[in-house]
Amino acid sequence: MAMTNGKTLVTMIAAGNREIQDFLDADQRETPYLVIDLKVAERQFRRLTDAFRETQIFYAVKANPQPMLIRRLARLGSSFDVASPAEIDLCLSEGADASRLSYGNTIKKASDIKYAYQRGVRMFVFDSEAELHKLAENAPGSAVFCRLLAGSAGAQWPLSRKFGCSPDMAVRLLEQARDLGLKPIGVSFHVGSQQLDPTRWEPSVSQAARVFRELADKGIHLTLLNCGGGFPTGYQVPVAPIEAYAEAINSAVERHFGPYRPSLAIEPGRFVAADTGVLRAQVVLVSQKSYDDDHRWVYLDIGRFGGLAETEGEAIQYRLVTARDGEPTGPVVLAGPTCDSVDILYEKAPYRLPLDLKPGDYVDILGTGAYTTTYSSVGFNGFAPLATFCIGENA
Ligand SMILES: *Cc1c(COP(=O)(O)O)cnc(C)c1O
Repeated sequence: MAMTNGKTLVTMIAAGNREIQDFLDADQRETPYLVIDLKVAERQFRRLTDAFRETQIFYAVKANPQPMLIRRLARLGSSFDVASPAEIDLCLSEGADASRLSYGNTIKKASDIKYAYQRGVRMFVFDSEAELHKLAENAPGSAVFCRLLAGSAGAQWPLSRKFGCSPDMAVRLLEQARDLGLKPIGVSFHVGSQQLDPTRWEPSVSQAARVFRELADKGIHLTLLNCGGGFPTGYQVPVAPIEAYAEAINSAVERHFGPYRPSLAIEPGRFVAADTGVLRAQVVLVSQKSYDDDHRWVYLDIGRFGGLAETEGEAIQYRLVTARDGEPTGPVVLAGPTCDSVDILYEKAPYRLPLDLKPGDYVDILGTGAYTTTYSSVGFNGFAPLATFCIGENA
């Protein structure tokens, strides 16, 4: 067992995962690093397939593009939501078939569309007329779906405004897609990441149904409703179970589409990847700002630039575990190690850590399997990008 200042690490098992805890205890690797357990990804994927019957699942690769994770999901029959040539190459080389890739980024260079098409990708998203022309020219005959604007109320990491168009525009553009020789197949939307309210899908499902009906009147029969991602993980407090999301989406589809039920797709990222990972960091410094202010500042060897970008606005509040848990605690401001003043993780959120916390102590950050390694800078201030170790390959 690893020792920290003479104390054995007998803490709460990280994310309830014995194997990850064993890995963390086994060796004193240089921090910070992320450990992900592929078995957890498999469990999460199976929870999705159980909850969402007859729904095609496109794992959103950007959440965590670890090759072994992609390989595991490909073996389980996952499809993939990709956003760039590099993500396409990754999925293909890890065993996914091109027919299972959806180019889900609404902002693509013509040369990237052409590359995707050459590699066999035949499903693309768009939300503008200019993008449609690029697709018609560089991916002729491909299946295309239009992304609708969606509100992000209830989401802890909103995605609104930047993506999607109005339903009226979607109707016109999908008609135009047909005229340009593309195959208009449906619509998509994304209600914001870490969406805590299962009822937030309904307004978009309702809009989508309207788009389907208006196009049916013009002789265009859409078949695909892509409900995006957003399914949350319980960082500090439990969230509604995935079944509640499936139930809310399915009943919204039933209500608004009636007997004309479309094929369903979802694009989960965080739900699959977040719980796979624990990030081990180390305390670099504990200090205070004046002799009469005993508010502690705790500086870790990871911060906003090392992979914890989702602490922006303190949006995602991770659970922290230390070897001194159970001892008396006090409030802290948590910050990263770089020479940039935005590199503060939590200042308003009421984080408390043991009063005895010292430089060299480990701090384990739970639920960090999604949106961490990909957000890590290439070496701001000379700090190395966040390393990943995978376990559970053969289980
Ligand atoms: C990022 C992204 C997702 C995944 O979102 P989560 O909230 O992680 O589930 C799904 N679809 C698209 C188009 C995305 O950009």
